[in-house]
Amino acid sequence: MTALPPLYLASGNSHKVRELQDLADHDGLSLRIHSALDLGGMPEVVEDTGTFVGNARKKAHALHVAAPAGSWVMADDSGICVDALNGAPGVESAYFAGAEGDDDANLQKLVEVMHEVPADARGAHYVCVLLLLTADGGAQVFEGFCHGRLHRVPRGSGGFGYDPLFIPDGYEDTFGILSLETKQELSHRAAAWRRFSSWAAAKAG
Ligand code: IMP
Repeated sequence: MTALPPLYLASGNSHKVRELQDLADHDGLSLRIHSALDLGGMPEVVEDTGTFVGNARKKAHALHVAAPAGSWVMADDSGICVDALNGAPGVESAYFAGAEGDDDANLQKLVEVMHEVPADARGAHYVCVLLLLTADGGAQVFEGFCHGRLHRVPRGSGGFGYDPLFIPDGYEDTFGILSLETKQELSHRAAAWRRFSSWAAAKAG
């Protein structure tokens, strides 16, 4: 089996690093995920392409210039798409309430805009795009989804972002209440990671 190159994650989001490292630890790939902090921090990236793949590509390229020769760089661009909002906030999920990455404000805004929406129209799904830049600069895209519905009020403090509002299909509790183990079986990030992991395992022989 060929050893896989070191992998750097183009993100300043510690929750994403933690979830991806946990997935890597459980799939037998023995891949160490380095945070962008190991390269001095994630460079500023304006996420203005309007697509998950486009934004992931920008983030991966921004870190790739700082990564050691021969390493892999992966970016995670993700978000929540709400049926009653015609797919919003989607690619704008991190900026829904204004300032980037203010999870509490974004969650509160989603609670408010969904206030009048009845139970049978509260469907939503998470999307995750993992974009990998390999050592030769080639790009591979792995996508994952997680379907469910939105609770009326936040419940639980597990996960991050919109998790206290999101109930995955087949469950009655939000990702804020469900264990990390359960989220890692069901989530959009886990689904995208499994696709990456199969691809990487084939590379490793
Ligand atoms: P990004 O960092 O530009 O990809 O923005 C992702 C945003 O989508 C985060 O700030 C969260 O608001 C939301 N998001 C993505 N994945 C998750 C998740 O697993 N749980 C909860 N919120 C998520």
